[in-house]
Amino acid sequence: MPDETPEDTPATASPSCAPPCGGPRVRAIPPGEDRERLMCPDCGYIAYQNPLIVVGAVATWEDGRILLCRRAIEPRKGFWTLPAGFMEERESTREGAAREAWEEARARIGIDHLLAIYDIPRISQVQMIFSARLLSPDVAPGPESLEVGLFAWEDIPWDEIAFPTVHWALREHRERRDRGTDCAPAVNPTPEALARWERML
Ligand SMILES: [Zn+2]
Repeated sequence: MPDETPEDTPATASPSCAPPCGGPRVRAIPPGEDRERLMCPDCGYIAYQNPLIVVGAVATWEDGRILLCRRAIEPRKGFWTLPAGFMEERESTREGAAREAWEEARARIGIDHLLAIYDIPRISQVQMIFSARLLSPDVAPGPESLEVGLFAWEDIPWDEIAFPTVHWALREHRERRDRGTDCAPAVNPTPEALARWERML
């Protein structure tokens, strides 16, 4: 055996599923499982699909202003969002949140603590949003942003926010700042409140 550790093998790769295999292309319920998966009929390889993790941050400067980015890409192009994006392999959630702040807003941030975890089962997504400090107020749009800016609470463009979770995280951040010490992550709103967002999730 080659001295290959599990870390060297991405979970999605199969050493056995390669040409002349045609690849995973048949939907079937694998033995012992309870739902359909995409399988390779030649070698039996199963292409598991699991939820993706989005990492992001509510990042504030010393005067309390909050970093927002106007999206240059779909979905919700032209709307404002927090710096956030899909976690990469081999990085921590905090590293991912800091990386996204750099990529989308050229912002250097220091992560303080986990603010919220939001489940969005309809699109198989889990969002982990951190509270963070801007290490400098100098920000500039990265390739995925039309513009970026630091917003006082009353200047936030509430009617042009890209996603429900941005509303939730901003309000959670504000409430905790006012409340003081509570650092337990927020979770989805109650089912009743969630119903109001259902169409957008
Ligand atoms: Zn195969």
